[in-house]
Amino acid sequence: GIRFEKVVKRFGQNVVLRELDFTVAPGERVTLIGPSGSGKTTILRLLMTLEKLDEGVIWIGDEMLWHMDKGGRRLPASQKHLHEMRKQVGMVFQQFNLFPNMNVLRNLTEGPVRVLGVSKDEAVERAKGLLDMVGLADKINSHPTQLSGGQQQRVAIARALAMQPRVLLLDEVTSALDPELVVGVQDLLRDIARQSDLTMLCVTHEMTFARDISNRVLMFDEGQIVEEGHPDQIFGEPSEQRTRDFLQAVL
Ligand code: ATP
Repeated sequence: GIRFEKVVKRFGQNVVLRELDFTVAPGERVTLIGPSGSGKTTILRLLMTLEKLDEGVIWIGDEMLWHMDKGGRRLPASQKHLHEMRKQVGMVFQQFNLFPNMNVLRNLTEGPVRVLGVSKDEAVERAKGLLDMVGLADKINSHPTQLSGGQQQRVAIARALAMQPRVLLLDEVTSALDPELVVGVQDLLRDIARQSDLTMLCVTHEMTFARDISNRVLMFDEGQIVEEGHPDQIFGEPSEQRTRDFLQAVL
């Protein structure tokens, strides 16, 4: 699972996360919703070690990813530790971010071979299985530029899973897609969510998708959680006015 304890993140004067506390239990699927600029993507970027925190502790499983103590020392500081922790986290981005100069197969085998030390044969076998699962077995030798946005995103999902992460982060994974391609990618993720025991943390503006994919929804505003609950409760009978206002604006 994941745990944030009193996490503070600032960009200059802008306090993006304000002593944020939340937990995602192992196997739980949590979606973050809330207004633009409220800090949702920053949470995922901290977990990917693409950002550093200013105060607080972030745990993945029973190990600290980041810890900033009162004296301003960041622990554990070693790159090696961050590298080890990062292996446990997979992320799918809005903009696919496939390796542009590698074909689909290499996109899926590069990480496992180089980072996890998996044998080439094993990585290829696993890649084939994952491409089957995402419905793109016939694109194994294609280059990213030869694929549609929806296909690229399905490869990106397969690539994240190829690393066998404990935690999968999804950041607005359908917002760069043409409308007719959205459903295919959402259906795939819904199947993965139902079939696996992955811990998932998802940021989305698509409320139907949020409802389908998650066990719990966190409504987020100004760097703090306003309300949390089962999707049926958050979308059906939200208790906070800010949640009602937000949902009215987006639905
Ligand atoms: P959206 O729904 O629009 O993606 P969000 O809730 O994901 O928004 P974040 O992307 O986490 O919000 O951004 C939170 C705040 O942090 C914003 O005010 C943003 O301008 C600021 N911010 C994010 N990244 C940086 C950065 N690298 N440098 C400076 N400010 C940043």
